Amino acid sequence: MPRPFIVGNWKMNLSLQEARILATALRKRLVGVEGVDVGVCPAFVFLMEICSILKGSGIFVGAQNMHWERKGAFTGEVSGEMLKEIGCTHVILGHSERRHVFGEIDQVINAKLRLAFALGLRPIFCLGEKPEERESGRTFQVVDRQLKAGLEGLEIEEVSLLTIAYEPVWAIGTGKNATPAQAEEVHSYIRGLLKKAYGEEVSSQVRIQYGGSVTPQNTAELLAQPEINGLLVGGASLKEETFLKIVSMAMEQLRSPI
Ligand code: PEP
Repeated sequence: MPRPFIVGNWKMNLSLQEARILATALRKRLVGVEGVDVGVCPAFVFLMEICSILKGSGIFVGAQNMHWERKGAFTGEVSGEMLKEIGCTHVILGHSERRHVFGEIDQVINAKLRLAFALGLRPIFCLGEKPEERESGRTFQVVDRQLKAGLEGLEIEEVSLLTIAYEPVWAIGTGKNATPAQAEEVHSYIRGLLKKAYGEEVSSQVRIQYGGSVTPQNTAELLAQPEINGLLVGGASLKEETFLKIVSMAMEQLRSPI
């Protein structure tokens, strides 16, 4: 079973001082955390500072996005090489806000995934259906398309290093999380697609996180699902206590799986 991975996506939130305080507290309180991988994804402008606060702590720092080209005339953009240079190890790609607010299409996300691997960054590849897609029974069809298009051309070794975050769009920031059964159904479907395309061994190494209104209240039952290997946490990652509670519940789950 892959090691659980809990990631906080801070989005466009927190001041520099708040980000510093939160990272410092996580560093202090997650010393010696075992069995669970933890990461945070601050806004671009805070990444350097947070990388320096968390250096050597074992907590991963990721960006929330990157450009699909290595460098060039792309005003306002940030490259993967820049992220590497300042100490980021991970990058969220294909988040639903990037897809649906900023119009990123599957091909763009695929180009970013390929480049992230080429640069030695570990992508957290997000996918998930919109409310109307679920309501019209097209969840699997959408996830199938996003997954296949996103992974197009990746080497099998790269796929094995991937973290996928299943985030139904209707659950993100809405307070309405997917039920454990709804999430597990899609996670199993994703695992099945990976198995078919890349074989049992590789598919079993891919971590599939759930994301969408995760809180300490729903963490245990989500993580109790066999195909949920971690969580991508938005709102609840902005407060020290709630995020740490989620991490400690993931550790608890390892000790006494339901
Ligand atoms: C997210 O940022 O990916 C997310 C799932 O947000 P929230 O937990 O706030 O729904």
